[in-house]
Amino acid sequence: MQKENGKKEGSRHQELKFRTRWGWDGLSGEDRAAARKMAGEYMQFLNRAKTERESVKELIRRATAAGFVPLADRELHPGDRVFFTNRGRAVILAVIGQNGPQAGFNIVGAHVDAPRLDLKPQPLYEEEGLALLKTHYYGGIKKYQWLAVPLALHGMVSLGGLGEVELVLGEDLGDPVLTITDLLPHLAKEQMDKKMADAVSGEALNALVGGERLPGEGEEKEKVKLNILKLLSEKYGFSEEDFISADLSLVPAWPARSVGLDAACIGGYGQDDRVSVYTALEAVLGLGAPPARTALAVFCDKEEIGSVGNTGMAAAFFQDTAAEIYARCVPGFRELDLRRSLAGSAALSADVTAGYDPNYADAFDKRNVARIGAGVAVTKYTGSRGKSGASEASAEFVGRVRGLFNSRNISWQTGELGKVDLGGGGTIAYLLANHGMDVLDCGAPVLGMHSPFEVTSVVDVWSCYRAYQAFFETWV
Ligand code: MN
Ligand code: MN
Repeated sequence: MQKENGKKEGSRHQELKFRTRWGWDGLSGEDRAAARKMAGEYMQFLNRAKTERESVKELIRRATAAGFVPLADRELHPGDRVFFTNRGRAVILAVIGQNGPQAGFNIVGAHVDAPRLDLKPQPLYEEEGLALLKTHYYGGIKKYQWLAVPLALHGMVSLGGLGEVELVLGEDLGDPVLTITDLLPHLAKEQMDKKMADAVSGEALNALVGGERLPGEGEEKEKVKLNILKLLSEKYGFSEEDFISADLSLVPAWPARSVGLDAACIGGYGQDDRVSVYTALEAVLGLGAPPARTALAVFCDKEEIGSVGNTGMAAAFFQDTAAEIYARCVPGFRELDLRRSLAGSAALSADVTAGYDPNYADAFDKRNVARIGAGVAVTKYTGSRGKSGASEASAEFVGRVRGLFNSRNISWQTGELGKVDLGGGGTIAYLLANHGMDVLDCGAPVLGMHSPFEVTSVVDVWSCYRAYQAFFETWV
């Protein structure tokens, strides 16, 4: 008797504990199938959107198919679906709410850029029978990860007033790829003795682009480089000077793939932050009846280098778009009205966080790290070493958000980016918070973040989608 009572008492108190709730456990067979279907479509999105320009193009294509129209000079009414682009590198999708912009916006913000290797303005040179392209890496990378992998060339070239050329080389199996070769282990003693950070220098990230000499008996120098220039001219119509006005990047040439015998995970390039981009897109496209508050899905550029520039989150683009929307809903509005509206808005900063990696257990506080497969991760603060640079969400806001997720049976968890003294990172959260609104970082956990092959979980992608959807649909 005594023992049985004790047992009951114990199980009653079990409910007081916060436990990791694995995303799979809460899914019905139907939900599992839906999550898998979304994962398949997400992988196709990753394959089509390897740069910020390609991402924005894909976002506009999907939005247009779902009835969104460019934000032209016209009145807006509840239920209207519009988008506003910025130089082909950032875009904001809006669904006008029933309560008008005075009631504030519900914002989910993600970034379309990802770490990569950009070509330098004068990239092409020849050395000892090989033609190479010099690169300057973009974002935080571990340089050695970009050696000895097939790389595809993506981007556009402006022909100095004579139009533009877009190009993608290396994605079709029949295409040649580029690659940055690594030193053979036989001769790598000096390299191997170096610290990992110093083993490969930025100036050594030169991609092999050619090796055939221009045919003919002529005595020209640099016949391999000349042959490459000839091919570039024939195939794409540009010359060496045009490299100076180009956005050309090298990205991993492989497609996204299912990972694991059970295909529980998704491996692919650029999931930071295109997992948030894709799930936020699905959430905003799927809005049926106009929500109470206007939904803004913000897709910005340059997050990986500090959100700077005219397409980054720090640019006027966001506030200007909000003002454009406000003005078309409420003609003759005052600037003060917009400021009030933004201060009363709510935002999820949709960005990835580090997932616990059993191979690198020492990097994480096991009690506070997000798990792959345990749902969308809510990160109260980012920053590094004493929360420096963090935009910390208030207890009240975190409380309301987790209440929402619980009420919709969305699998969610909490996360902190690694051990306190190890480092950290930031997101666009603080830039949204600068307007006065409540903001919470909220996204999928990732393994191998910033590597050429990042890994997420099928069930976490699903949870992100459901989290952003719930926020757009019901937040007031
Ligand atoms: Mn990110
Ligand atoms: Mn990142």
